[in-house]
Amino acid sequence: MISPFLNRGHRVTSAFGMRTVGGVRAMHNGIDLVASSGATNSVSIVATVSGVVKRILTTVPNTHTGLGVTSNTAGNIIELETAQKYLVRYYHLQHGTFTPGLRAGSVVKVGDVLAKAGRTGRASGDHLHYEFADPKGNRFDPAPYLDNDRQFGQPETPPAEELPSPPANVVRPGLSANPKFYTVVAGDTMSGIAKRFGVSLADLARMNPQIINIDRIGIGQRLAIPPRAG
Ligand SMILES: [Zn+2]
Repeated sequence: MISPFLNRGHRVTSAFGMRTVGGVRAMHNGIDLVASSGATNSVSIVATVSGVVKRILTTVPNTHTGLGVTSNTAGNIIELETAQKYLVRYYHLQHGTFTPGLRAGSVVKVGDVLAKAGRTGRASGDHLHYEFADPKGNRFDPAPYLDNDRQFGQPETPPAEELPSPPANVVRPGLSANPKFYTVVAGDTMSGIAKRFGVSLADLARMNPQIINIDRIGIGQRLAIPPRAG
């Protein structure tokens, strides 16, 4: 996923998990980000997923300061919902910086500017509280999704590597020394591949000693296919 900070590096100032603030131990359900250089309140926050605006909450501006009142802890927020019903929340957004026309139901795509980072709600300084929830509403750590290609719903498989061809000596007697190869695509399982090529799962696993756990094959991995029995 891209960074929620448009064209600006971010720094995590508070991680996901239990933390102590003012002597009180509490769960922090997201991560806090500030600009890695320059003023955080000049950072444009962008949609890091495509989906729809599920919820927008803007505080009433304080007539004296023009800033949002601090009646709620999250301040001005935008919540996006993906097609797979994951929720992405952006808290403490700066008052008066929301992209005009953005409202609940608006369709957004990755990279669309939402608002500027700020300190509305309960915030001791400018920062973005960035929060993810799964379709059941359980919050989870956004950190593994910062600035990489990982997307929601992807299994935690290690990146596909270029694997060397299995050495000839892994071929059992009776099996061809010139096996065919197959490159794993999304949705493949070892047993499915074995079935497709009419070979046993045990033979397929034996031909591919690089697969440590047959339940976790990675897209792009190259498997040696044993010839059909008989
Ligand atoms: Zn936070």
